[in-house]
Amino acid sequence: MHSIPERAYWCNLAEKIRFPNQLLIDGKWCDAQSGKRFPTINPATGAVLELIAEADTADVDRAVNIARQAFADGRWSGLPPRERGRRLIALASLIENHREELALLETLDVGKPIRDSFLVDLPGVVRTFAWHGEAVDKVYDQIAPTDKGSIGMITREPLGVVAAVVPWNFPLEMAAWKVAPALAMGNSVILKPAEQSPLTALRLGELALEAGIPAGVLNVLPGYGPTAGKALGLHQDVDCIAFTGSTEVGKYFLQYSGQSNMKRVWLECGGKSPNIVFADCPNLEEAAQAAAVAIFFNQGEVCSAGSRLLVENSIREEFLEKLIAASKDLQPGDPLDPATRIGAIVSDEQLQRVMGYVATATRQGARLRMGGNQLRTETGGYYLAPTVFDGVTSDMTIAQEEIFGPVLAVIGFDREDEALMIANDSIYGLGAAVWTSNIDRAHRMAKKIHAGTVWINSYEEGDATVPFGGFKQSGFGRDKSLHSMDKYCDLKTTWIHLDVEG
Ligand code: NAD
Repeated sequence: MHSIPERAYWCNLAEKIRFPNQLLIDGKWCDAQSGKRFPTINPATGAVLELIAEADTADVDRAVNIARQAFADGRWSGLPPRERGRRLIALASLIENHREELALLETLDVGKPIRDSFLVDLPGVVRTFAWHGEAVDKVYDQIAPTDKGSIGMITREPLGVVAAVVPWNFPLEMAAWKVAPALAMGNSVILKPAEQSPLTALRLGELALEAGIPAGVLNVLPGYGPTAGKALGLHQDVDCIAFTGSTEVGKYFLQYSGQSNMKRVWLECGGKSPNIVFADCPNLEEAAQAAAVAIFFNQGEVCSAGSRLLVENSIREEFLEKLIAASKDLQPGDPLDPATRIGAIVSDEQLQRVMGYVATATRQGARLRMGGNQLRTETGGYYLAPTVFDGVTSDMTIAQEEIFGPVLAVIGFDREDEALMIANDSIYGLGAAVWTSNIDRAHRMAKKIHAGTVWINSYEEGDATVPFGGFKQSGFGRDKSLHSMDKYCDLKTTWIHLDVEG
């Protein structure tokens, strides 16, 4: 693990840091055509960091035209894959060189601890660009086993203009998961960051230019969802939407596609992942610590958070005590202090939403075992104590809806089939974990749980080599791994007739 600078260092850097604040179109900074700007806020203090140019339909039109021209003239799509790969790897190195600056921008913009931005998010972003850059000239096309009188070639072709619409919980990492494979395959890209987190996306666009990705190939449009996001979704000349965000907005994109040009839509949406602990769990202490991190890491603002803890009743009280003890180390603090493991909730609006769920859970009869209250109000920021509700039943609101905050719903069970039924009683199917020392049970559960990822005796492992995405209303299409590249190309079949008789 890399070491991380002290708090004083980050505070000093924060005084001097430059905030990018315009749209990036055709390799140039520009204001929105409306002249409008919106504030981006530091959730740790509630203070406005910067006023950002606000893209709307006219800016979307212009960026799509530019991206289309860039795609059509082949300045990027026409380069040999190896050359595109070389420049993506150069971008990965530039991101690594600007790691402190980017980590700090992320922390200031969304309130996550600097230790996570610096030690988790940024290394993930670097690896994503490097991995796709390294992979792109190792992907082969195919020739089908047809009759000898013909050759059936199956080739991949980039789609054209891809719009990546991403959320605020891992702003740069979610952007990288889309932008890296889309660029690797030769597409032009328009990146629309969430309105809560525009800063690192803009800086990424600037670094891409420096890495040799030609002007117009990666354009960055900060703006609001119902305006800029919708305009991208409805645009007749956008070929693909790669979306990460809520299930509700994911459904809008399916509608926008149907109302416009049937663009491809790939959705990485919400989750309500079950973390299932059986009495034969190999190490209860370890499982309890993992369960605490599974829900409280990144303030609970994680799509695959282990937000439903299913515990076998015979060990429930013992496990809860261990979990609560482990959670004591996860109290919110100043995001710029490297000792802080939990930061601020992204916005006042999100904090109020989460507090609303706390009130609903209490009203519906769940037992509050820990937290539930705001903290650090003197800072002006948005902090919530890690919160645990016991005695939850699967029909309660906090067991069904994605809260996207540090609130854990604990549900007891007595039998394996009951645990499975509760686990699958959800519209979501993103992740799940099973803690058991019985290998047969581990396989049975992994097979029968409806989720894109199942962890056995661990939580939240991931790697660039492994696909990530959901079943059911958690979405479809996969980020990461070679599978992610499939989303950004179409398959073309070319039949060549051969006169083999001569
Ligand atoms: P969100 O759906 O509110 O916003 C996501 C993006 O969509 C933002 O860029 C936003 O501006 C845009 N948007 C919002 N309304 C829109 C509209 N009407 N038309 C077009 N675009 C619109 O989500 P969020 O609050 O930013 O992020 C939290 C959600 O993201 C959670 O549900 C979480 O589970 C999900 N998420 C999923 C994954 C995954 O890989 N499955 C990863 C991270 C986050």
